[in-house]
Amino acid sequence: MRLSSQKYRSHDYKFLVQRWKKICQKSGLKMRKILVLDNFPCFEVCSPKLAKKDIIYFSAGIHGDESGSTEGLLAWAQSNLGKLQSLPLLIYPCLNPWGLVNNSRFDASGIDMNRIWANSKNILIQHILNRTKDLHFETVINLHEDFDGQGVYLYEPSRGGRPSKKAESIMNAASAFIRVDPRRTIDCRKATNGIIRPRPSNPPKEGIPEALHFYLKHQCRTFTFETPSEFDLELRVQAHVAMIEEIFN
Ligand SMILES: [Zn+2]
Repeated sequence: MRLSSQKYRSHDYKFLVQRWKKICQKSGLKMRKILVLDNFPCFEVCSPKLAKKDIIYFSAGIHGDESGSTEGLLAWAQSNLGKLQSLPLLIYPCLNPWGLVNNSRFDASGIDMNRIWANSKNILIQHILNRTKDLHFETVINLHEDFDGQGVYLYEPSRGGRPSKKAESIMNAASAFIRVDPRRTIDCRKATNGIIRPRPSNPPKEGIPEALHFYLKHQCRTFTFETPSEFDLELRVQAHVAMIEEIFN
């Protein structure tokens, strides 16, 4: 068993921020504090020449008990220092710092931040809605984990028609580290080889998730990556890194 000291600090938000700061210093990405949420500073990371078009958006940690997501996004950035500056990136490294520190799906007021994107009172989500309203996205990627997961899977919202093969190649890349979730039904939705293509006309009844907001308002491709949070953290991180790499292939 490999005992990396780092992996036991995946709920240490300060440590996460420190490591992102280092990545930005080394790569030329810009990191700025945007606001304070539940007593935690929140940050946005972007490329120095971020244009209004063809942006690649990443977010992680909207559910604080899914630390493989925040670690996976960070690990991908750490292993691509030389090229980050040339990519059109807008990154939210952790959307729910209180949840991360407290290992909670919810925010400090008990709200699931991934169900309030239609009309949110959360100041960080309001900030993102404002920040992004005139931007055009090439791809939006939200990193998640699933407590009940039996392998990796993803959501790609779709109105039908023939999808690209991207989702398949993403699953294939992740399967080098964690098998594809074999379930045929995941969260009451049909899954095929780990791919769920929810119809936007059938959103979760509790409210609109981040991915669906971007899909509907920005009409862009969105992927929600899911790793099984009961599996080994190092493998979950590697699976997230492999899925992100595949976006750029
Ligand atoms: Zn989640």
